Amino acid sequence: MTFPSDHRASRQSRKAPFAVSFEFFPPKTDVMEERFWESIHKLAPLHPRFVSVTYGAGGSTRERTLRMVSQIKAETGVDAAAHLTCVGATKAEVDQVVHAYKTAGIKRIVALRGDPPGGVGQPFVQHPGGYANAAELVAGIRKIGDFDISVAAYPERHPQSPNWDVELDNLKRKLDAGASRAITQMFFDNNYYLELLERAAKAGITAPIVPGIQPIHSFRQISGFAAKCGATIPGWMAERFDGLEDDPETHALVASAVAAEQVLELVDNGVTQFHFLTLNRSNLVLALARLLGVRPD
Ligand code: FAD
Repeated sequence: MTFPSDHRASRQSRKAPFAVSFEFFPPKTDVMEERFWESIHKLAPLHPRFVSVTYGAGGSTRERTLRMVSQIKAETGVDAAAHLTCVGATKAEVDQVVHAYKTAGIKRIVALRGDPPGGVGQPFVQHPGGYANAAELVAGIRKIGDFDISVAAYPERHPQSPNWDVELDNLKRKLDAGASRAITQMFFDNNYYLELLERAAKAGITAPIVPGIQPIHSFRQISGFAAKCGATIPGWMAERFDGLEDDPETHALVASAVAAEQVLELVDNGVTQFHFLTLNRSNLVLALARLLGVRPD
C-alpha cells in the first residue's frame, strides 16, 4: 500500500531533471513594464531553460518583443526566446525581424502562424507574399540562421484542424521543417495532454511536447482566454472558483491548489519539462517551481 508521504517522497526523488521555461508578454505601459521586470528578476534566478516573449496579434508588438528579449538576455543572462507570427507581413518583412533577432544575439524563436486579425473564429488569410503557416515559417527561419525553434501543439486540437490526422500531420511538418520542440496551448484537464503525447508517439513524433501551464490568476480572465483559443474549462474547475470574484485571498489559494494539482499529476505521469504562462506575474509560478524542486541559487 502507498501512503501519501511515500507519494511525496517519490515526487521529490524525481526532482533533479525538471526543466522550466517562462512565457511573458511585452508590456504596454510604464506600470506594466515595472511589473514585467520585477517578475523577470524574481524568476531569472531559477535558471529557466529560456524566457519567451509573445508577439502581439498582427505583429503589433514587433519592436517591443525585440526590445524585451534583447534586454532580458543582456540584464539577466537568461536565454530569451522571441515569438514570431506570419500575420500581416510579407515573407521579406518577417525575415527582416528574424535578421534583427539574429543581430541582437537571440538564438531561440517560437514560430507561429498567428491568428487572423478578426479573431480565432475567422478563417486565416495568408498575407500576399507572406508565409502560409507555421511550417513554412520554420523553414524560412532555418534559412536565415541556426535558431533553436519551438512550435505550438494543441492538446484539444487546433480549432481549424478537422481531425487528429490533420493535426498531427501539421505538427510533424513543423518539427520536420526544423523545430526542436513543441509547446502546448493551455489545458486544464491533463488527460487531453497525456492523450496528445500518446497520439504523437503513434504518429512517429519524437520531439518533446512541453506542457503550457496557465496558472489561474483570475478565473474570469483565464476563462475568456480559454474560450478564445478552444481550451476547455472543466466543470469541476468552474465550480471551485464559483463565487470567488470578490474574495481574492480564497481565489489565490484555490488557484495555487489547482495549479499544484495539475503540475504534480503531470510529474506522476513522467513529465519533466514545463512551460509556465506567467502573464508577467511571478508569485504562483515561483511556488509551482518550488514544488518541482526548482529554486533560486
Ligand atoms: P499552424 O501550425 O500553421 O496551424 C494552424 C492551423 O492550420 C491548424 O489547424 C493546421 O492543421 C492548419 N494548417 C496548417 N498548414 C496547413 C496546410 N498546409 N493545409 C491545411 N491546413 C493547414 N499567437 C500570437 O499571435 N502571438 C504569440 O506570441 C503566440 N504564441 C503562442 C504560443 C504557444 C505555445 C501557442 C500554443 C500558441 C501561440 N499563439 C500566439 C497562438 C497561435 O498563433 C494560434 O493558435 C494560431 O491560430 C495557430 O498558430 P500555429 O503556429 O499553431 O499554426
